[in-house]
Amino acid sequence: MTGLVIRNAEVEGRGGLDVRLRDGLVAEIGQRLARGERGEDEVDAQGGALIPGLIDHHIHLLATAAKADSLALEDVSGPDDLAARLAAWVSARPAGRWVRAVGWHERHAGPLDRVVLDAIAPDHPVRVQDQTGALWILNSRALAQLGDDLPAAVERDAAGRPTGRIWRGDAWLQARLGRAPPPLTPIGAALAAAGVTGLTDASVTTDAASAAVLAGAARAGDLPQALRLMSGGLLAAPPDRAFSVGPLKILFDDRDLPPLEEVTGKIALARSLGRAVAAHCVTAAELAVMLAAFDQAPGDARPGDRIEHGGVIAPEAIGELKRLGLTVVTQPAFVFERGDRYRAEVDPGEQPDLYRCASLLAAGVPVASSSDAPYGSLDPWAAMRAAVRRQTRSGAPIGPGEAVDPGRALQLYLGRFEDPGGPPRRVALGQAADLCLLKTPLAGALAELDAGAVAATIVGGRVVHAAV
Ligand SMILES: [Zn+2]
Repeated sequence: MTGLVIRNAEVEGRGGLDVRLRDGLVAEIGQRLARGERGEDEVDAQGGALIPGLIDHHIHLLATAAKADSLALEDVSGPDDLAARLAAWVSARPAGRWVRAVGWHERHAGPLDRVVLDAIAPDHPVRVQDQTGALWILNSRALAQLGDDLPAAVERDAAGRPTGRIWRGDAWLQARLGRAPPPLTPIGAALAAAGVTGLTDASVTTDAASAAVLAGAARAGDLPQALRLMSGGLLAAPPDRAFSVGPLKILFDDRDLPPLEEVTGKIALARSLGRAVAAHCVTAAELAVMLAAFDQAPGDARPGDRIEHGGVIAPEAIGELKRLGLTVVTQPAFVFERGDRYRAEVDPGEQPDLYRCASLLAAGVPVASSSDAPYGSLDPWAAMRAAVRRQTRSGAPIGPGEAVDPGRALQLYLGRFEDPGGPPRRVALGQAADLCLLKTPLAGALAELDAGAVAATIVGGRVVHAAV
């Protein structure tokens, strides 16, 4: 494997340094390094900062790719607008072909069920996902293709007919529909362009089949990032390590909280497998159940045990998170993207508890950042801006005291896979050559927090993205 030399970079605050990458590692750092062996590539950093590549610590890759292939309903203005857009989308597709729409929310787009969908699109099987990802709504044609033995997740009306609404039915729907995997190349490329070199897929539904799809995309270079997969059940890493196995994901239906023993049992299972636990906690009720379960589960917390989202964290829960050794993997971009809705819908007394950041760090609770794409935007730099500004799309504040400075906002992406809220990875001898080269010294990039600052992205010592 030939190496790569990056010349005249700023490394950990020192300018004018050359960095040699070899065999996937940082092999040499110094001033004016001698030319290397024949065939070694050179990149002129022109004084730009070389920083560790960003890790998106919570993303759903297949859903993100599918979304790129779907009708987006996030900015629908009302029921008529939804009907017009959906009708236009289906009319451009042959009758009988599956149609997928995402991002529906009742507040913006009006109520939706099988009957409403049938009136708009009777000739295509249609499925519409709500903005949280917990609910699918299907029309009659779609329901008819699912067979007769419908599980309890399929809601029924008083007369026993399916309403078309399916709660948390992803795994079942996926198994029943068996659709071809969506293209991952655009997702891998967009993340590489933003300096992202590592991904933790947080899907509870990941099984051997979907893991094989992602491993295939990693081998083909469609997903150039280092890949780590969570799963809700057993999962084995392939011999070529196309992905590594991450925490066991725990996600339950917050409208029907499970008995505590069930949750402690899952934690015990994760520990027996040597895996950390990643617990989905958007609401205060979910967090309360998980904190009680972590408290009672046998064995000690692992450094990678984590709370996903931490959407609502009451002040008294902060000390518990610290005591139990849990990391919070948050999504700062939700403050911007969904903040206006939170301000309208969340109890004002609970609004200071939304997507905390600075108060957790101050209390010694490790925090890491992520996109939760497709439910949030892919761009980590937009999320960093949101973490710094704590403003909604319309400019209203959400928990302004939770703001962090730009350097800290970046660090939330620099923890290791195993310890996402731990110390940032370094550009130092012997470290993995998963790197992000910026166009300017770090101070300039932090002043802007824009993905346009990324000059090149390097994974395993190879350039996977170079800005033109
Ligand atoms: Zn998620």
